[in-house]
Amino acid sequence: MIKNLKISAVLFLFFAKVYPPMKKLILAFAFVPILSFSQNHQANLKKIYDTELSAGHTYDNLRYLCKVIGNRLSGSPGAAASVEWTRQLMESYDFDTVYLQPVMVPHWERGGKDVVKITNSAKHGVVELSALALGNTQGTGPKGLLAQVVEVKSIDQLKSLGAQVKGKIVFFNGPMDPTKIDAFEAYGGANAQRSSGAAEASKLGAVGAIVRSLSNRIDDIPHTGNQRYAADFPKIPALAISTQDAELLSQLLAEQTDLKLYLESHGEMKSEKLSYNVIGEIRGSEKPEEIIAVGGHLDSWDVGEGAHDDGAGCMQAIEVLRLYKALGWTPKRTIRAVMWMNEENGLRGGQEYAKVAKANGEKHIAAIESDSGGFLPIGFSSTGTDAQRGKLASWADLLRPYQLWNLQKPGGGADIGPLRDQGPILIGLLPDSQKYFIYHHTEADVFEVVDQRELELGAAAMAALVYLIEQEGI
Ligand SMILES: [Zn+2]
Repeated sequence: MIKNLKISAVLFLFFAKVYPPMKKLILAFAFVPILSFSQNHQANLKKIYDTELSAGHTYDNLRYLCKVIGNRLSGSPGAAASVEWTRQLMESYDFDTVYLQPVMVPHWERGGKDVVKITNSAKHGVVELSALALGNTQGTGPKGLLAQVVEVKSIDQLKSLGAQVKGKIVFFNGPMDPTKIDAFEAYGGANAQRSSGAAEASKLGAVGAIVRSLSNRIDDIPHTGNQRYAADFPKIPALAISTQDAELLSQLLAEQTDLKLYLESHGEMKSEKLSYNVIGEIRGSEKPEEIIAVGGHLDSWDVGEGAHDDGAGCMQAIEVLRLYKALGWTPKRTIRAVMWMNEENGLRGGQEYAKVAKANGEKHIAAIESDSGGFLPIGFSSTGTDAQRGKLASWADLLRPYQLWNLQKPGGGADIGPLRDQGPILIGLLPDSQKYFIYHHTEADVFEVVDQRELELGAAAMAALVYLIEQEGI
């Protein structure tokens, strides 16, 4: 476009000088390249949306991943099956290259039913709570663990109790802040209790930890998720309980401070396993060395079907490349669908992908991740230079007709984070966040709770953005 403008300007100056009446006419023509340029983009974005919304494959592919393969925790048979199936799926779409990138992943197994019981309620006697052990935890084993419970609302409050928690089970009951409009912000505010609560409690001599589920709804569904132990301190059992039961336990503790809990869980970290990132590529025709990665994470937790988290993102990413095939387009720059492995309890896939890219001297100009659920997309979050983010913002008029109005939010994605120091803009598909944490990391995250239309709008949104980047660079 710059070249066209320069030529137009030179021609204009030349003709205006030798033949002044042509000024107006030439002036009009000088802007033709600009108009046709953006009209062309407009027309092509419409083709992307029309194709996806009338004959998309995203929803049917997600159905297969969820219903036939099911959940896919790293190192599990489900994860292995999902690697092989996505590889075959991308080969069936005839992408230029489809390959597996080996990566060693942690292998944690839940090992049995998780139990949390109040054993001595003066009001109700024994009360069983809805519980799910957190990922990467060491279980109590069949003997279980019985101890008095003490409630805190935050890690800071835990620290203020100090040695008072010694020999006890710490109950982390800080809710997601309901006044935050962006649910991811509320999640971010409460998440340390789950990710490092057990580690901090163990440092003070606590023998167990239970955590209020990270959900913005009061219901009876426990949410698992990752946690990390501190080196050199005991690996105490850590379980989540449903928000409803967290409220109940808190009420009972207000009336009776000597409540005891019985915990039983069977989690065990096994030896690492070989797994894979799954990659499909369509090579660029003009600047093949410039790569745009678009993806999600293929692993999920071991409950539910990992539909929103993150089957949706994976199927959307494959769909971006499939749409190019369906439309008969060859991108100017290389586009790559990446199914990262092990986002949930290790991030090994994202780290390995960045490491290999660096070792191979690859040049990623953009990395786009969809890992916020298959909900109605409202824009893209990003991390990058002012120039990169400015370029993204310059497409606002093209994206707004598709309700993609929010291009300002900072963000990106866990799996693409490790690419940051290689210079690409990192972009996250930004769906409406209100319902994501109802399903996140639970048995309720199944295919049926994903809306076909919203899922497809997400796939089309990612394809539209990939199109603008491969055409114009960023
Ligand atoms: Zn996820």
